[in-house]
Amino acid sequence: MVADRTLSARYKMLFEGIFATMQTTHVPEFVMRHLMSPAERTDSQGRAFTAPLGLRRIESALLAEGGLTASDIICTTPESLPRMLGDWVKLVIVSSSDPLGQGMSNTTTDKFWKGELYTRYWMNTMMEVIRPAKQKYGFKVLGGGAGAWQWVYNPKQARGQGFDAIYEGYFEDQGPELVKDILAGRETPWHVQAQNIGVDGIHPIKHPSLLGIIELSRGCGKGCRFCTMASKKMGHLPVDTIVSDLEVNVGAGITSVVSGSEDFFRYGGTGVKPDFDKLYKLLTAMRRVKGLRFMQIDHGNIASIAQLTDDELFEIRKLLTWQARCDYLWVNMGIESANGHLVQASSPGKIAPFSPDDWEDIVLEVTDKMIRTGFFPVFSVILGLPGETPADVQKTINLVRKLITKRAVIFPIFYEPVREDEITNHQRFTLETMTLAHLDLYSMCYEQNFKLVPRMFWDNQRAAGVPLAKRTLIRALGKTEIHAWRSAFQKLRQQIPSPAIVD
Ligand code: SF4
Repeated sequence: MVADRTLSARYKMLFEGIFATMQTTHVPEFVMRHLMSPAERTDSQGRAFTAPLGLRRIESALLAEGGLTASDIICTTPESLPRMLGDWVKLVIVSSSDPLGQGMSNTTTDKFWKGELYTRYWMNTMMEVIRPAKQKYGFKVLGGGAGAWQWVYNPKQARGQGFDAIYEGYFEDQGPELVKDILAGRETPWHVQAQNIGVDGIHPIKHPSLLGIIELSRGCGKGCRFCTMASKKMGHLPVDTIVSDLEVNVGAGITSVVSGSEDFFRYGGTGVKPDFDKLYKLLTAMRRVKGLRFMQIDHGNIASIAQLTDDELFEIRKLLTWQARCDYLWVNMGIESANGHLVQASSPGKIAPFSPDDWEDIVLEVTDKMIRTGFFPVFSVILGLPGETPADVQKTINLVRKLITKRAVIFPIFYEPVREDEITNHQRFTLETMTLAHLDLYSMCYEQNFKLVPRMFWDNQRAAGVPLAKRTLIRALGKTEIHAWRSAFQKLRQQIPSPAIVD
């Protein structure tokens, strides 16, 4: 099993991984390979020290249900892969989160830069190694991972890359059976879609995961039309499994970890309602694992946080303080637009149980609440949501103006459809559809981010134990990037036609 090169790296903290997967080949490859995305280590047999959590889950599922033993399965890296391929290989499983470079956050940044996204470029490079070996040794190639939908919608391209089948969704559901069929030489469908999130069938991981990701919950179910988790109802992992996964990582020396969930604050909850007691119990159990420096919490939902009291958030923040101090414990939350009705039209469950009329106030209240209780809000807004009007863009600009007076950052994202009908109708937001108002919004967010993101990056790296020399080098490179972004905005401003003046 192997993941694309951006997911086969030694990142110390989540933002390093996020930044690496957003880069295009305008960043020289040696800078990517040695600084931004340094290769993961392997042992003498080519086994990777860490692998993406999805591959670790596949490994555990195949050991428990696939009739395989530990010596039958190897999680490796793209660097070690060529020497692993031979007539003893029956199946290569390839995982990627963005194989064709169509992921929403990545396509937003790649529009501004020359070159090709590294997620796509390195995937192609790896498949150029796998394809001839496949012809020579006759093994099968199965694709999967969070970006599997891109292969499903582009079957010709995927087949041309060498894939025999694509598995979409959580592996526990139908994955073990599919692998058994492939290994037995039985005919299998081109596309297998998991029907459920497989929470009940999860087996604890045996070896450490990339970034020390610890899965808390799966799915989301809030219905956002631009998200593959839209219709997958959220399910939560048992405390024992979570603690076991944490022990495996910390025991292997991964002392900076990331909690994996689409909404951290909804752990244990039912529907859209969080359950503070269950989250409290989970965090208390996790704290019994000794040796953890820092845990990053990734995604949260504004409506879930709005349902928690300040005291509850204080308590959660206290439990999230591990061995290393962290002044920027960020939580990534989607605002999408200041117009709650536009948000509701694209994301039916995002604002529930509140009213779309109150969306802007809720966003501002949650920002204050998060800052008061020791969190660092990181928001996203989407440019080009279906149905967006110039008035909506202006409303979002006004909201962002208020947010930038606070200790928060906002990432603007170009709308990128994941639904087949929207992909076919090219309903994506591009630089060609960008207006001057969009650019104002975009650059206003980035000016705020230029101030606060380097501090957050530095703080998280320090908490995760990144050496001072590397932090200093990355900070220096960051300054060059800021300069490049500002020039890109200026250039674009000259290219976008001004709106017609109406008498
Ligand atoms: S709330 Fe977030 S994770 Fe859930 S469906 Fe919407 S975008 Fe996806």
